[in-house]
Amino acid sequence: MGGKAKPTKHTSKEIAKKVFEANVNRGGGAAGKAERQNAACGFKCYVCLCQQPSEKSLQIHWEAKHTDKGALDLEKARCK
Ligand SMILES: [Zn+2]
Repeated sequence: MGGKAKPTKHTSKEIAKKVFEANVNRGGGAAGKAERQNAACGFKCYVCLCQQPSEKSLQIHWEAKHTDKGALDLEKARCK
């Protein structure tokens, strides 16, 4: 054959990064600040029950992990 198989550099690494970011609250900007002051918990993923500090984090988490479950229902995930 002799063809050089180029390794696909992205995929798994990018997914891992996405998952990591979904679970880390960087809390940057005014929105993050408001979220921090507002709620002790914020949001909880109702699929895997992990806590998410903000709507944004939850959305990233959802897109990384649960798109197969359909659309994210924010109200359902909101901690009361
Ligand atoms: Zn989840």
